[in-house]
Amino acid sequence: MKSPSLPHLVALMTAFGSAFLLIGCGDHSAEKPLIVGTEAQFAPFASKNAKGQIVGFDIDLINAIGEVIDHDVKIRDMAFTGIIPSLQSGQIDAAIAGLSVTEERKKSVVFSDPYFEAGLSILVPASNTTIQSAADLKGKTVAVQQGATGAKVASDLKEEGRLGSVKYFPSATLMMMELGKGGVDAVIHDTSNSNTYMKLDPGKVKALPEPLASEYYAIAFNPKSTELQAAVNQALKELSSDGTIERLKDKYFHDEEHDPGDLFSEYLSHMVAVLPNLLHGAFYTIGTAGVSEIMAIGLGLALALGRLFGNGPLRFVVIAYVDVIRGTPLLVQILFIYFGLPGLINGITGHPANINPFVAGIIAFSLNGAAYLSEIFRAGINSVDKGQWEAARALGFSRPGTFFTVILPQAFRQSLPPMGNDFITLVKDTSLLSVIAVSEITMEGQNYIARTYAAFPTYIAIAFTYLILTFSLSRFFVWLEKRFKIP
Ligand code: GLN
Repeated sequence: MKSPSLPHLVALMTAFGSAFLLIGCGDHSAEKPLIVGTEAQFAPFASKNAKGQIVGFDIDLINAIGEVIDHDVKIRDMAFTGIIPSLQSGQIDAAIAGLSVTEERKKSVVFSDPYFEAGLSILVPASNTTIQSAADLKGKTVAVQQGATGAKVASDLKEEGRLGSVKYFPSATLMMMELGKGGVDAVIHDTSNSNTYMKLDPGKVKALPEPLASEYYAIAFNPKSTELQAAVNQALKELSSDGTIERLKDKYFHDEEHDPGDLFSEYLSHMVAVLPNLLHGAFYTIGTAGVSEIMAIGLGLALALGRLFGNGPLRFVVIAYVDVIRGTPLLVQILFIYFGLPGLINGITGHPANINPFVAGIIAFSLNGAAYLSEIFRAGINSVDKGQWEAARALGFSRPGTFFTVILPQAFRQSLPPMGNDFITLVKDTSLLSVIAVSEITMEGQNYIARTYAAFPTYIAIAFTYLILTFSLSRFFVWLEKRFKIP
């Protein structure tokens, strides 16, 4: 069957995708709020509180700056490694994330005047006696946070042969947990954030007395935003002279130790405490998976039709599409849509191309799911006995009529079990969106761990939340199969 509307359908779907992508395009004029990127896993500068709000020294400071320069501030949480690319592509106007000023970063972004004197420490297990200074790191394994200054120092030391090997982690929380469980000999990390960790989980880890390096934290901007940089510098001066910055230091750097109490009740209370966050995350997980599945079904069906009934070039395009999507990791596709495409659009048009991480996730899952579903639909359509075409034609049905009223309903029934599998996989795969800081279940859990370092009970609670979701879904698909069963 040659369906003349098919290419139109495919074009429409593509247009839909592009429209979504372009939704956020545009430049940030003075009336628009200042979009400020941060990494909410870096207490006490930026972390999520029990209500899921991003709080900390950096957040108070940027809000105070916003007041001085008369600009609304909108905080956007993102992976640390995404901060500089997001500034470059114009997805954010500024970044405040305990970001250290380095010569290397100055090649890509511009910095405000420093607002905090910081430094790097070497952390070792409390029982360790062999590592007493940087000189003792020779042959040792060290954990660092990807993209952070600690990672740069560690890789330099390794190159000079003064350190054994380096393990890279996407967040400071995970790196600290690796040290806690004995997976590495030491950690190189910001002193201020390390102190928070040591206070939360006392007696496990100690910092060597001698700091490894001294650094300064500053706010970063796109190199073109020199006006904003000047205004922020002026605001920092005012906030320093009126004592605001000192007051913030008093607020966030007080010595308060946490009493761990008995292990079982401690775990239980964490599992209860993290629940509201996980439920909030479930909303995003279900939302992303649900919307993506609907879009993927539409596009997947169009692809299957193209492959089965289209002309040579269309079939070629569909086969190539399915091969490319199936042949590349979903994580790479997500990163490509969130960071790659906006960077390209920015490079071509010179305008910042801002894509919401939630929308980026939906686009990635829809495009990915469509490739897999198209194969499921193709198999479903092919499984319908060819004789039915002739029978329906003999009854006077047109070819499209036969397809939509006779073939497709049966193909759909055949496709239901693999579709169910596919959807459950999709729900679990949404956890990948934590890399672009979508507040889905995994991300919410990780934020809780960053605040409390309670890894075990939180991961149990995360696993349970997914299990409840996927179990309910598999029951739902069983019900659907029964409902559409041929009597
Ligand atoms: N200060 C470190 C850096 O700039 C780490 C910051 C962070 O993890 N948020 O690289």
